[in-house]
Amino acid sequence: MTEIQALADRILAGDRRALARAVTLVESTRADHRAKATALMEALRGADRQALRIGLSGTPGVGKSTFIEAFGMMLIEAGLRVAVLAVDPSSARSGGSILGDKTRMERLSREKGAFIRPSPSSSQLGGVARRTREAVSLCEAAGFDVVLIETVGVGQSETMVAEMCDLFVLLLAPAGGDELQGVKRGIMEMADLILVNKADGDLKATATRTVSDYSGALRLLRKRPQDPEGFPKALPVSAVEGNGMETAWQEMQTLAEARKTSGWWDRRRAEQAAHWFEEEVRWGLLQRLHTDPQVRAAMGERAEAVAQGKMTPDAAAREMLEHLST
Ligand code: GDP
Repeated sequence: MTEIQALADRILAGDRRALARAVTLVESTRADHRAKATALMEALRGADRQALRIGLSGTPGVGKSTFIEAFGMMLIEAGLRVAVLAVDPSSARSGGSILGDKTRMERLSREKGAFIRPSPSSSQLGGVARRTREAVSLCEAAGFDVVLIETVGVGQSETMVAEMCDLFVLLLAPAGGDELQGVKRGIMEMADLILVNKADGDLKATATRTVSDYSGALRLLRKRPQDPEGFPKALPVSAVEGNGMETAWQEMQTLAEARKTSGWWDRRRAEQAAHWFEEEVRWGLLQRLHTDPQVRAAMGERAEAVAQGKMTPDAAAREMLEHLST
């Protein structure tokens, strides 16, 4: 595997073309590519570099790409290297991606210190998320300081992104009080920072009200022992005018530092690694059910027996599980 070692070395040197190739490799479902991807991830394991991984969620139209462009440019100007990845559930359903549009983040994409990658497409969301998780590690090994993982605010994708990031940011639009209920409690509980975007022009007053509504709602949630006083927080931003970006960044750094100092950061990363290990095992088992011809035959026989009333589903399943472990 000297080819893999060479690729790993180039990634460690921060080479973006090597990084792009590696991301393509981890996204591939071909068995030989998978084996190489596993070897590559192993080769990079000791790199011991940590980026700040920021999850960013928000419904389409709320201003995610405009925000990432403005926020990313601010970080680049501060001398940091920024990677942007996406987990898009629509790519799992249709093969197309809401977050894949090439014209998004045009300025940022021209920067040498930036790396932008649309959501991988896969037949299911779990596949999209698992490959993005590896892409995050690759960006980290390549020495990126900040990795933004963008997702759309629907369904399960947020939960998956929360399992691969250190901070979770929810981007919202200014809205009337009634709409506050529209954000699911579970998502509010995941957010470390709620940013109310479009706090400019005619929307500014509404945005200010929305921020105070969410501040109130956040205070009602259980305080997290790992976080300093006042978190989670709601803040106004304007991605178009660039307002509030610095403050948002400072708050993120404050939170990250506090979590590092308390030891929570490392514990959380360890938990996340354990989570993805289990996910990979679960996925591997499911794959075997669908692809291994012998396993499929054994499944078919039992399904037939169950359908004909010759076995109960439970007994057949137990027998099948025993079969798998031999
Ligand atoms: P995404 O679908 O979440 O990525 O949203 P976009 O970044 O594509 O933005 C959707 C629309 O909102 C676009 O027309 C943007 O110009 C507009 N928009 C984004 N950020 C702001 C902002 O801070 N203020 C205002 N007024 N409009 C914004």
